[in-house]
Amino acid sequence: MLSQVGPLKGWQEQIKFVWRQTSERNKFPWAFLEFTVCQHSLIKTLFPIKSIITRDTKYNHDVKFTTLFFDLDDTLYPASSGLWEAIRERISLFMDEFLNIPREEIPGLRRKYFEEYGTALRGLEANYPIRREDYLAFVHDLPLRDYIQPDPELKAVLMGVPVRKLIFTNADEAHARRVMEVLEVIQYFDGIVDINDMEPYCKPMPESFLRAMLRADEPNPGSCVLIDDMLRNTTGATSVGMRSILFGTDGHQTGMDATLLKWRDLPKVLDELESREK
Ligand SMILES: [Mg+2]
Repeated sequence: MLSQVGPLKGWQEQIKFVWRQTSERNKFPWAFLEFTVCQHSLIKTLFPIKSIITRDTKYNHDVKFTTLFFDLDDTLYPASSGLWEAIRERISLFMDEFLNIPREEIPGLRRKYFEEYGTALRGLEANYPIRREDYLAFVHDLPLRDYIQPDPELKAVLMGVPVRKLIFTNADEAHARRVMEVLEVIQYFDGIVDINDMEPYCKPMPESFLRAMLRADEPNPGSCVLIDDMLRNTTGATSVGMRSILFGTDGHQTGMDATLLKWRDLPKVLDELESREK
């Protein structure tokens, strides 16, 4: 799809081409995304989203994948830790105490927002006059060390994978930093793309992946890999041309390029993905 836009001469013709494609397929966001991914520098000029990458990244050998995006919750730490359940409880408490939503309606509403808006936050923002910073501070106000601990295997793998690594999360940067500090992995990452960076979108919306690439100053989706525990996020990444690894399972499903159960297998999985591209 991307190569169809490439050979055209001049930005006016490219816009006409995208518009034609758009009308034919009636899928504006996709056509727009394809266009903007091709025209990375143009979109950066039109929408001055600052890159968060400050470190110069040069590799002493050819690498296909230059940017790894890591999900945070239930990926950097095990889903069995109970932390995400605790956050979900805090979300319910917020809906009860601050918005006076009847308790029996909260689980269903939370699920509905998750499915329709991507996150409970985006659903609440669309339907209630909430302050995002209050919500994010409240739902993440938990004693993290009671739930998660450093994982030597994760640290060793992050240290050993010589490409750019970013956290890409539907939570906010403050929560991401606290989690990374407890896990003792903050020094291995080049940046964090959080829910505020993606506004008004969130994973798995295609626009969120574009936003992440702009923040990472990465023009080519084919050079990016997303590692995430949610199938709908890996599916979203794959659909915009990224490669994706579903974390926490070893089953073969559609909607991702590979699965990963143990962090120690990440280099092997990345090698296999690279060899498939050749
Ligand atoms: Mg997750």
